[in-house]
Amino acid sequence: MRDWLAVRAHSTPKATALRAAGALDTDRTYAELNDRVETLAGRLAGVGVCVDDLVAICSETRPEFVTAVHAVQRLGAVLIPINARLTPAEMEGRLGRIEPTVVVCERTTEATVETVTDGTVLSFDEPVGEATALDERSPEPFDLPEWELDDPLVVMFTSGTTGDPKAVVLTLGNVLASATASAFRLGLRPDDCWHDPLPMYHMGGLAPVYRSVLYGTALSVQREFDPDATLEALRAADATAVSLVPTMLGRLLDAGSVPGLRFVLLGGAPCPPELLQRAQRRDVRVAPTYGMTEAASQIATARPEDAQEAPESVGHPLMFAELSVVDDLGAPCEPGESGELVVSGPMVTPGYLDDEATAERFVNGGLRTGDRGYRDDDGRVYVLGRADGTIVTGGENVDPEEVRAVLRASPDVADCSVVGLDDEEWGERVGALVVPADGADPSIEALDAHCRVRLAGYKIPRTIGFETALPRTASGTVDRNAVVDRLRDGEA
Ligand code: ATP
Ligand code: MG
Repeated sequence: MRDWLAVRAHSTPKATALRAAGALDTDRTYAELNDRVETLAGRLAGVGVCVDDLVAICSETRPEFVTAVHAVQRLGAVLIPINARLTPAEMEGRLGRIEPTVVVCERTTEATVETVTDGTVLSFDEPVGEATALDERSPEPFDLPEWELDDPLVVMFTSGTTGDPKAVVLTLGNVLASATASAFRLGLRPDDCWHDPLPMYHMGGLAPVYRSVLYGTALSVQREFDPDATLEALRAADATAVSLVPTMLGRLLDAGSVPGLRFVLLGGAPCPPELLQRAQRRDVRVAPTYGMTEAASQIATARPEDAQEAPESVGHPLMFAELSVVDDLGAPCEPGESGELVVSGPMVTPGYLDDEATAERFVNGGLRTGDRGYRDDDGRVYVLGRADGTIVTGGENVDPEEVRAVLRASPDVADCSVVGLDDEEWGERVGALVVPADGADPSIEALDAHCRVRLAGYKIPRTIGFETALPRTASGTVDRNAVVDRLRDGEA
């Protein structure tokens, strides 16, 4: 197999690769993108990046990120996107596990990256510290690698249910199968332009980068979702598709009139039926999707017209995805009966970087998703939620155990329980019921400050309540429903 972008640039050099919008003021053709990628690949080769090396990128979404994705692939190296909003401790945890040859950062992440890695640090921007500006390096010649479908292309971190996010290895074959199956479901038009305001350190944000080059269609990128700016970018780019999480769609509908699109691919969290109806009333065509990092994004997707028919469903599994529902003993469930969703197919990862996690999650060739759901008589998929207590807030997943461990590390806290509270804007928000330590009387402000230096912003409890003891079930486990009720009562 040959370099996807090179083939694309050779066959449709004049087609638009990156459409002007937001950060980019002129369209960029495939030939131009290919030239930039060739130069950047040479610059990376100049600092010693070769086949199979690990290259981390710690940056928000920007056109240079797209160039870097392809440059890393051209060298036969493995891309590792790192969440740009992590605290130094969180970032150290990830980079320490991976030990990349090179970390590419940007202005906002440079200081954090430099304190936690011994590897070479390059920056998309003019460095303020020790990093080297990518633009300053002169390109070196490099060898073109042989490509096989089984070669790792990306290592993507999941959002972290166990508090320790899993590093998912995705191969060229996984990404190719995902892109193909997505097009088989959603269709393809030569004039398509996919607008991508999602972070590229999540699969939902990275997938459109690979898809557009395989399809030969245009991509437009945005640094950060913002309702008004995203509406403006959709218009400026003449977009026909956009990837969003449900919270973003709600805010977009509030902000104004959404231009006509072939579809809004909506995933990462359950889509509330009211939101879907609101969008449909406004003629915004929503394609609800269920996906996960381990499947290189989509597993099941409903076409907009199917979403009208079965609004609570995420549609049928994609062409090559096998999705079964199993009970606690691993036996298949009947239609209508709920259980854990198990997925297999060519888009599913061969495993995690850590073998132990792989052995735990794969059963009989299928990956246990950790999600509960069922299929109806027609085979449509319904996702009921996480098999564990994961909180999904604004599309980001929060492990309640991680937040609990941070709170418990405070000398003022004897015990606590962390739960998700329904939230109109964010889907869920993090809530904590705290039992103060003997003699301590912590304020909400003090606990907030304690969390703020230890946790990324979206994980910090928005609602904190105090009790002398946690409510417990008859068997002694914390009664999560009662915790939710007490936090709600406290707010009322
Ligand atoms: P970790 O595996 O570390 O917990 P994560 O599962 O949150 O992280 P991702 O791979 O980004 O990380 O998210 C995939 C998960 O998002 C799915 O397993 C599912 O729980 C949830 N999800 C995605 N789409 C939907 C949807 N349409 N409805 C409900 N949940 C969804
Ligand atoms: Mg997961």
